[in-house]
Amino acid sequence: MTKLNWGMIGGGEGSQIGPAHRLGAQADGNFTLAAGALDFDPERGRAYAQRLGVAPDRAYGDWREMLAGEAARDDRVDLVTVATPNATHFEIARAFLQAGFHVLCEKPMTMTVEEGEEIVRVAKAAGRICAVNYCYSAYPMVRQMRAMVAAGEIGKVRLVVTSFSHGHHGDAGDADNPRVRWRYDPKMAGVSGQFADCGIHALHMASFVCGDEVRELSADFASTIPSRVLEDDAMVNFRMQGGTVGRLWTSSVAIGRQHGFDIQVFGETGGLRWASEQPNQVFYTPVGGRTQIMEKGEAGLSDEAARLSRVAIAHPEGFPLAVANIYVDLAAAIRGEQHGALPRAEDGLRSMAAVHAAVASARDRGAWVDARPPMFR
Ligand code: NAD
Repeated sequence: MTKLNWGMIGGGEGSQIGPAHRLGAQADGNFTLAAGALDFDPERGRAYAQRLGVAPDRAYGDWREMLAGEAARDDRVDLVTVATPNATHFEIARAFLQAGFHVLCEKPMTMTVEEGEEIVRVAKAAGRICAVNYCYSAYPMVRQMRAMVAAGEIGKVRLVVTSFSHGHHGDAGDADNPRVRWRYDPKMAGVSGQFADCGIHALHMASFVCGDEVRELSADFASTIPSRVLEDDAMVNFRMQGGTVGRLWTSSVAIGRQHGFDIQVFGETGGLRWASEQPNQVFYTPVGGRTQIMEKGEAGLSDEAARLSRVAIAHPEGFPLAVANIYVDLAAAIRGEQHGALPRAEDGLRSMAAVHAAVASARDRGAWVDARPPMFR
């Protein structure tokens, strides 16, 4: 099978998410890093891309140069990953989609709901894939929970409770550190801090596992470190289209919590629990029965969980491999082959609608606000 050509924008040397994408895209031999505009500093970006094996004429100084260069080639990249800071995603993703490239965009996909709707429309009009890197949804045991819910193994879902709460911005003395400060500055981060950064992963996970979408929400936002303009803690209550009750807590000041992403799904006949710090296990409790620990790699799991497990039972599969699973499905989708559930632009848009609904709700003392994007009402 021929490898697909892949290009990256952002994710330069020293970036947080760049290495996970490079490992993820290339782990299974689906993609070759063929082009890149990796850094906001053109020279650094060109030099680093070449050190990663990109040919000099495809190691670009910025994304516009890359768009012009790749669009003119017969062997143009099949997929472009956008791993730049949030405020740049929209412009870059739209330009590449319009030029006929498939795109994997980092979250949050856009800064506004209008931009999100535009991306959904542009991707549709261009007939291109715009995926969003909700990578936690690609853990094998998350796929297992989704399959169990879809098969009715816990009955109708009554309640989903999720949190993505860590303590890494909990030191008030560190609040002015430039690597932390921008996340709570509206000019850099947009309308929301912690909810748009981590909360939307949890909200997407709730929808993904339950196989349902958020209809409305009520939010309480707090800036517990007073110098912060945007929230560093949020509690969001929500309701899904099918009536499931949702509770979501996200925080960056929960000192002592490390990664802190977990989900519990409670149905009429059973419950499921998964935590990102023990990603290989799902706890399953049938009503009136004993709690069972289901392990990644063991017999009897869903096809999806088995398909995305690449290391044997008892070996951990790390976070970058969840990103790798996004690329597994993207490669199959681009090639027109059978693939699993890919988070799409519609999911990125739903997140933006939820962020703006949560901001409006928090400003209105937790009033219930319609969380659906206008185009999906
Ligand atoms: P970072 O600041 O560590 O790195 C950003 C990189 O982008 C740097 O190399 C920088 O030079 C480069 N860059 C900035 N502007 C650019 C431009 N205009 N053109 C080309 N390159 C440019 O940021 P990060 O933590 O890696 O985050 C990047 C994105 O990934 C953010 O949107 C963030 O929300 C997202 N992210 C997602 C996850 C996840 O779980 N899916 C995890 C971490 C970060």
